[in-house]
Amino acid sequence: MAGKMMYDVIVIGGGPAGYLAAERLGHLGKKVLVVEKNYLGGTCLNVGCIPTKSLLNGAKQYIHAKEAAIFGVHAEKLSVNWNEMLAWKEKTVETLRAGVAAQLKRVKAETLTGTGVLIVDGAKRAVRVGENVYEAGAVLVAAGSVPAMPPIPGASGNPQVLDSTGLLSVKEIPRKLCIIGGGVIGIEFASLFYSLGTEVSVIEMLDEIIPPMDKDHAPLLRRALKGIDFHLGCRVEKIDGGKVFFKTRDGKDASLDTGPEGVILMAVGRRAETASWGAGGAGLDAAAKGVTVDERMRTNISGVWAAGDVNGVSMLAHSAYRMAEIAVADMAAYLEMRNDTARPGLPGPANVWRGNAVPWAVYSLPEAAGAGLTEQEAALRGIAVKKAALPMTVSGRFIAENGVKAAGNVKVLADADNGRILGIHLIGPYASEIIWGAAGLIENEMRVQDVRELIFPHPSVAEVIRDAVWSLGES
Ligand SMILES: Cc1cc2nc3c(=O)[nH]c(=O)nc-3n(C[C@H](O)[C@H](O)[C@H](O)COP(=O)(O)OP(=O)(O)OC[C@H]3O[C@@H](n4cnc5c(N)ncnc54)[C@H](O)[C@@H]3O)c2cc1C
Repeated sequence: MAGKMMYDVIVIGGGPAGYLAAERLGHLGKKVLVVEKNYLGGTCLNVGCIPTKSLLNGAKQYIHAKEAAIFGVHAEKLSVNWNEMLAWKEKTVETLRAGVAAQLKRVKAETLTGTGVLIVDGAKRAVRVGENVYEAGAVLVAAGSVPAMPPIPGASGNPQVLDSTGLLSVKEIPRKLCIIGGGVIGIEFASLFYSLGTEVSVIEMLDEIIPPMDKDHAPLLRRALKGIDFHLGCRVEKIDGGKVFFKTRDGKDASLDTGPEGVILMAVGRRAETASWGAGGAGLDAAAKGVTVDERMRTNISGVWAAGDVNGVSMLAHSAYRMAEIAVADMAAYLEMRNDTARPGLPGPANVWRGNAVPWAVYSLPEAAGAGLTEQEAALRGIAVKKAALPMTVSGRFIAENGVKAAGNVKVLADADNGRILGIHLIGPYASEIIWGAAGLIENEMRVQDVRELIFPHPSVAEVIRDAVWSLGES
C-alpha cells in the first residue's frame, strides 16, 4: 500500500511500553498504529523476562524435587530434559504473544511488521516503514534496548561468546559457563544453569553483584548462591576461544577456561536502541544512555514521546508499563488541546514519573527484591535512618516450607526524623511477589506506625516486613 495514512498516535516498537500504550490509547478511542520490526511483546516477552522465568521455574522445580526428602517426599530417577524445558519456554512465549496481539485487536489498534523511522518535518510527525509514510498527531518511540557488547578483544565473532538471547536457545546445557557481569541478568542465568548442574563462574568489575542491592544484602545473596564461583572487582581484558583473561582486584593476571565446549555469557548491561528509528536524523536529544525525556516522557521535539528502555531512565518492564501510561495521559491531553476539544491541558500530577519506589527483583534461587532506598543511598543523600534487619526464620511459613537453615532476610529502613518508610529489601522465597506491596508502602509515604496498623495474612513470608517494622524503634 503506497501513500499516506493518518493516525492519532503511531507507536514505534511493540514491547511492554509500546503494546501497553497502544492498549490504553485504544481504550481512549484513539486511532493507533504499532510498528514492530520483530515480534510483538518485545524483549521482555520474547527474549527477556518471560523466557528466563519459564526456564528458571523448571530449574526451581528440579531443585525442590531434589530436596523434597526433608518434607517426607521422595522423588526418584529425577532428570532434566533441556529440550522439553525449551519447548515449555517457547509455548509460554507463543501463548503470551498471541495474547498481546488479541488485546491490540480488541481495542482496534493496528499493527504493522517493519522498521519504523521517525520523520519530523516542520509541524508534521510521521513514521516511514519501507516505502510508506504514516502520519500521526503524536509519535511514541518505544524502541527498547539491545544487549551491550563491550569491545573486549576476542569477543566479537567468537561462537563461544553469547548474549542473553543466544544463551536462551543453546542446544545443550553447557558443562561450564563463565558470565561476564554480575547484574540481575547475569545472576539469573548463573542461578538457572548452576541449578541444572553447570559449573558457573561470574566475573564482575564492581566490588559487589547487583548494583541496586543494599550492600548488606548482596553478600548474603552471593553466599546463598553457594557453588557459584564469584570473581569481584575484576576486569576482563581479553577472550581466546573459551578462555577469559582478567585482572583481579589486586592487579594480578588471572584466567578462567570454559574449554572448547564452554559458553561465555556477555551480560554487561543493555543500551537504548536509538539507531534503527533515526533518533539523530529526526533531531532528538539522544545520549548514550537513551533519549532525553522529562517527567511526562516528552522528548525535546513536540509531538514525540519516548517511553521504556529507550529513554534509559529505568530499564525494567514494569517501569516501561508505567512510563507508557504517563506518556498516554500526556499525549491524550496534547491531542485534545491540538484538536481544540473539551478538557484541554495537562493530565495532572498523578501522571508524572516518580522513580522513588520502583520495585526490582532477581528471580534466582533464592529470590531477591527491593524497593526504595538502600542504606548507602540514604547516607549519600544525608538522610538519617533507623533500620531493622531480620532473618526470615521469624516467619512461621518460611520455616514450615524451608526449615531453619535456608537463606532469607528482610531489611527495612525508615526516616529517623519522621518515621517514613524509605526502603525495603528482601532475600528469600516469594520476594518477587511480596515486593510490590513494599513499594506501595514507600510510594504512599507510609510511616512506621501506619505499617504497624496493617494486617498481614498469617502465616505468610510477607509478615517479615511487619516484624521488621515492629522491631524499628518507636516513631
Ligand atoms: C534476559 C533478560 C531478562 C529480563 N528480565 C526482566 C525481568 O524479570 N523483569 C523486568 O522488569 N525486566 C526484565 N528485563 C528487561 C525488560 O525486558 C525490558 O525492560 C523491557 O522489555 C523494556 O520494554 P520496552 O517496551 O521499553 O522495550 P523492548 O521490550 O525492548 O521492546 C522494544 C521493541 O521495539 C522494537 N523496535 C526497535 N526499533 C524499532 C524500529 N525502528 N521499528 C520497529 N520496531 C522497533 C523491537 O524489535 C522491540 O520489539 C529483562 C531483559 C533481559 C534481556
